[in-house]
Amino acid sequence: MHLKNSKVIAIKIGSSLLVDKKNNIRKKWLSSFAKDIKKLKSINKKIIIISSGAIALGCKKINHNRSNLKLDKSQAIASIGQIELINLFSQTFLKYKLNISQILLTLDDTEERRRSINAKRTFENLFQLNYIPIVNENDTIATSEIKYGDNDRLASRVAQITNADTLILLSDVDGLFTKNPKIFKDAQLIKKVNDIDNDLQNISVKGMTELGSGGMNTKIEAAKICNLAGCNMVIANGLYMNPINKLEEGNNGTWFISKIPKLHARKKWIISSISPKGELTIDDGAKRALTNGKSLLAAGIKGVSGKFKKGDHIKILDAKRKEFARGLSSFSSQEINKIKGRQSNEIQKILGYVSKSEVVHKDDMVKV
Ligand code: GLU
Repeated sequence: MHLKNSKVIAIKIGSSLLVDKKNNIRKKWLSSFAKDIKKLKSINKKIIIISSGAIALGCKKINHNRSNLKLDKSQAIASIGQIELINLFSQTFLKYKLNISQILLTLDDTEERRRSINAKRTFENLFQLNYIPIVNENDTIATSEIKYGDNDRLASRVAQITNADTLILLSDVDGLFTKNPKIFKDAQLIKKVNDIDNDLQNISVKGMTELGSGGMNTKIEAAKICNLAGCNMVIANGLYMNPINKLEEGNNGTWFISKIPKLHARKKWIISSISPKGELTIDDGAKRALTNGKSLLAAGIKGVSGKFKKGDHIKILDAKRKEFARGLSSFSSQEINKIKGRQSNEIQKILGYVSKSEVVHKDDMVKV
């Protein structure tokens, strides 16, 4: 329904799509999914896949029962299964000449601004290299206090970080129903949710679970995160062959439509900082470049004030010291002090390490 207009699409795959109830790997299904991805790539969509299955495949590998796993055991098993998972993707996607990479995230990587900016850049560089990132939670490291525990919310954060237009949660349920469809025959599929709080007031999602860690609750939480970031989300049944094609053709699944334009959401987030940590004063040339939608480079920076870290909110002032824009700095104040006024190709030599060339990337900047 909404994929045509989406440039960046994040797709989450639940464990039950990769491993069936008899503990067999659903290779044919994955192949049909890869075919769908090939089609999306051929029309220049940027794709991110968030895949569960490390624990399920780890258990399969060592013949261990999946139920009642203790945390430390599941961490070890995830470490075994993650390679299986990526191998499975790698072998299947190779047949369609699709390149994949692996990103393992912990909660802090998405919740802490500096780290989330780093992650964002990594995703962008992978898009440029024409690689499809396959994301999972870093289960081997994450203990319960610092764990998402379900890939639904992790996927929504990834969608937010990568500025995705749509997040598709492929699960083993058809979507969100008015009642638990396993118990009530008259339960109806809700096709569209425009306002989560109001539309879902009378719906109890208790017991509406799938295999894997997430239930309907975590999916609705994920929808809230997505919608606030200007991203639409759909819960769809991924058990079908060619699940993305099926979603596009049929009017199935439950769509959660964001009321906020995407850019607006991001700008609001940048502008909403109550206390920017510092200021950069720029020259007229840089001001012109910024007005034309370019990023801020070191060469155009005349002065730095305040003490800030990479990822902090800062004000950008013009030569008359009038606030011109706000943004997230890709460098610390200490670093900018060393590189201000210098050409981008000198940065590596001055700092002694490889880094980005934009001090404030255009996507991380709002003109005021
Ligand atoms: N990260 C877990 C895994 O790969 C799955 C979490 C979930 O089921 O949502 O097994």
